[in-house]
Amino acid sequence: MAAHTSRTYADVNAVVGGYLRDLAFAQSSQQKMFGYKRAAAAILSLDVPLTDLVGPDGALPKIPGIGPGSTRIIREILDTGESPTVERAIADSDRRADIERRRQLRRHFLSRAEVRLILLDPSFSDPSLEDYYGDLQMHSEWSDGAPTVQQIADACLQRGYRYAAVTDHSYGLRIAGGMSMAEAAQQRHAIDQLNARLGTEFRLFQGIEANIDAAGQLDLSDDEAATFDVVLAAPHSRLRRNEDQTDRMLAAVAHPAVRILAHPRGRITGSRAGVMANWDRVFAAAVQRGVAIEIDGDPARQDLDYSLAARALEAGCLFALDSDAHTTDQLSYAETAVAHARLAGIPADRIVNCWPIDRLLAWLANPTSERLS
Ligand SMILES: [Zn+2]
Repeated sequence: MAAHTSRTYADVNAVVGGYLRDLAFAQSSQQKMFGYKRAAAAILSLDVPLTDLVGPDGALPKIPGIGPGSTRIIREILDTGESPTVERAIADSDRRADIERRRQLRRHFLSRAEVRLILLDPSFSDPSLEDYYGDLQMHSEWSDGAPTVQQIADACLQRGYRYAAVTDHSYGLRIAGGMSMAEAAQQRHAIDQLNARLGTEFRLFQGIEANIDAAGQLDLSDDEAATFDVVLAAPHSRLRRNEDQTDRMLAAVAHPAVRILAHPRGRITGSRAGVMANWDRVFAAAVQRGVAIEIDGDPARQDLDYSLAARALEAGCLFALDSDAHTTDQLSYAETAVAHARLAGIPADRIVNCWPIDRLLAWLANPTSERLS
C-alpha cells in the first residue's frame, strides 16, 4: 500500500478556504456570497501557507481579495483551528444541510500552497517535476480554451517540456465549443507546420477529449478517432446522479481508441461528487486494456485524488498527469497532479508523462505493451 495517503498535518489554506466557502453559502445576500467565494479562491491559490504570512506581531499582510470580514475569520482559525463565527452563521442560516453536503465534497483536495510543499518535500521520491516531460490534456482556441497552438507550444517549451498534447473537445460537446472534424483537419495542419518549425526539440501532439455518453460510447466514429495522436475519454454528463455507472465507465475504457480516461469522476470541489462506480472494476479493466487513468490537476477537479489513485496503483494502472489548462498560465495545474501522484506513491515509471517520447509513442500505438506481467 502507498505510504503517504494519510497525512497527519493540516493543509491550513484548505481549512481556511473551506470555512470561507461555508460562510459564502450561509449568506442571504448574493453580493456577500460572491465576496466570500472570491476570498476562498484567493486563499486556496496562495503560494504559501497562511501560517508563514503572519508577522511577529501576529498581523496578517494585505492579501488581494481578502476583506476585513474574511480577515477576522482567518485570525480565528489561525488562533484556534476552527471558526465559531462561521459555525454560528451556518446554524443561523437555512442552508445547513447543503453546507454539510458541500463539506463532504471537499475531501482530498489540496491547496496551491500544499501542492508546493509536497513538491519540495524530499520524503517523497517520485515523481518530481524534473521527471515530468509533457502534459497530455489542455485546450486551445479550437474549443473552449484561449491560446493558439503556437502559444501552447511556446509556453510548454518555457516549462521545459519535450512534448505535449493539445486535446480540444470533440464535436459532441457543443457546450464546450467542440471541434468539428473539418476544424480538426485545419488544426492538424497548424500543428504539423508548428512541429516542422520546432524540429526535434519539442513535439506537439494532436489529441482529442472525446465525450463519454450515457451508455459509455464516444462522440467520435472509429475512423474519426484514428485521425488523432491520442484519444482521451471523459464524462461530462450524469455527474450528479446517485446511481451506479460502472457499466458506462467500463464501456468507455473498453473502446479500442481510448488511451487515457480523463477526469474519471467529473467531480468538482465542494459542489458535485461526479460519477459513482465500482472503481476497482474500472481500474482492473483499464489495466487489461493498457488505458492510463488521469490525475487531472485543475484545482477544482483534482480527479483522481491521491486516495483513489493509490487504489488504481494497487490495481496496476498506468497514469497520465495533466493540467486540463484552458490558458497557458493554467499549465501550472500539472503540478497539482504531480503532488497527488507523490502522495499516492506512484513511481515515475508508471506515469506516461514521465516517459521519453519513443516509449510514449510505442504505448500509444500498442497500449497493452506496457502491461505488468
Ligand atoms: Zn473535460
